[in-house]
Amino acid sequence: MKILFASAEAYPLAKVGGLGDVAGSLPKALKALGHDVRIVLPRYGMIKDSLEDLARFPVDLGAAGEEAGLRMARIGGVPVYLVDKPDLYDRPKVYEYDDDGKRFGFFCKAILDMLPAADFWPDIIHVNDWHSALVPAFLRSKSAGDARFRRIGTVLTIHNLLHQGLFSRELFEWLGLPGDLWGPGGAEFYGQLNFMKAGIVSADFVNTVSPTYAREIQTAEFGERLDGLLRSRGSKLSGILNGIDYDVWNPAKDSFLTQKYSRSTLERKRSNKTALQKEASLREDAKAPLIGYVSRVTAQKGFDILIEALPKILDQGVQFVLLGTGEKKYEEPVSELARIRSDLMVWLKYDEALAHRIYAGSDFFLMPSKFEPCGLGQMISLRYGTIPIVRSTGGLADTVVDVTGDPSKGNGFAFREYTPDALLEAVLRAVGCYHVGRGWKSIVQRAMSTDLSWNASARQYVALYEKVRARVSAAT
Ligand code: ADP
Repeated sequence: MKILFASAEAYPLAKVGGLGDVAGSLPKALKALGHDVRIVLPRYGMIKDSLEDLARFPVDLGAAGEEAGLRMARIGGVPVYLVDKPDLYDRPKVYEYDDDGKRFGFFCKAILDMLPAADFWPDIIHVNDWHSALVPAFLRSKSAGDARFRRIGTVLTIHNLLHQGLFSRELFEWLGLPGDLWGPGGAEFYGQLNFMKAGIVSADFVNTVSPTYAREIQTAEFGERLDGLLRSRGSKLSGILNGIDYDVWNPAKDSFLTQKYSRSTLERKRSNKTALQKEASLREDAKAPLIGYVSRVTAQKGFDILIEALPKILDQGVQFVLLGTGEKKYEEPVSELARIRSDLMVWLKYDEALAHRIYAGSDFFLMPSKFEPCGLGQMISLRYGTIPIVRSTGGLADTVVDVTGDPSKGNGFAFREYTPDALLEAVLRAVGCYHVGRGWKSIVQRAMSTDLSWNASARQYVALYEKVRARVSAAT
């Protein structure tokens, strides 16, 4: 099958969070299954090296029309088309500009308009999150006049329903989306253009990144005001768990580590802990349980309860290292606490190498998320034998089995209620188990044996593409 994978991020060319990991690894897994898969990304400022120039192509937007360049890079053998439009993308960051609506609206239109220049006609365009969610909507008008577009099926994956891409009606008009999409049954959302909603109503199939989150977003609590619409798509809405890239996340081959290790050489994990304690200016104590946290510092990630529980966690003789950036209202109190506590280190930055050292050097990895579509941190930490302590929601519920609830299968510790007390209780159980020592090694080895690869999930995507392709060809 020919698959075009559209995303705003793809590691290692551009990564902000989990979407970047997925877009950098799922296409490689699909290629390994024998498919012709290509990625398309905007050419941001940080993507510079050894790019091939392919063509220039017209983008049919605005009164005068626009033009963009088409360039190419590669991720592990997978071709990556780069939409080159310097005034929109040649900037240091991926997101968070005032004109993001125009930037990603243009990207969506360019994805279709570049196909003749690339001479690549995919069976499936797989779009991801709001940044590429207008593609299925644009495809409708393209298909009207051109059979090559009519044969393309679309899949939209929701990686995080919180971010929907809300913009003005003027943008809707500038983009020239089909007029009948303006309405509550289309791309309109309380008077605004909603990119994600446009994708949900227009894509041939919608999925999300874990079975539990697929159920959750059909409820008012997690549905971000789109739960009704998602319920109505219920039969065409599934959950496929993400995998992690075993080439990037492998403690036996990870060159960022002080010492590489595997399930059978677990004692070598210890030198990574000592090195991390040193790097974090913590007491070099092999016995002190060390909890790591690598994530965005936001409400979604559970910061309201973490901030309250943290002093009490530290009072248990636990050390804590935190790497992340996010909202000031959480960054400030946690840095303040770090100033007065010698058992807490806080790094407010983005640092890929340090993240690897935290995954390897910690005993535990904390993810108390309020909601979590899939979550990669807990999967990476399992692979590194660093025991996750998580709130049981979304993908966390699908990947972490509680040791107390199921001692023979448990690979981590989970709690349900979104309260500081429930979080503290889970940490106490985890630390208690760690101190007892008996059985600990087998928990760590079980964690490391959990299958977190793309193997099964990439096959599920292929099955989904096949289903969409069959439906599209029956209709044309
Ligand atoms: P998100 O909701 O942010 O996508 P995920 O758990 O799905 O959360 O993925 C987060 C990814 O980003 C992981 O690979 C994690 O290691 C990485 N990450 C998050 N914050 C940082 C940071 N400050 N420095 C380095 N890596 C980070």
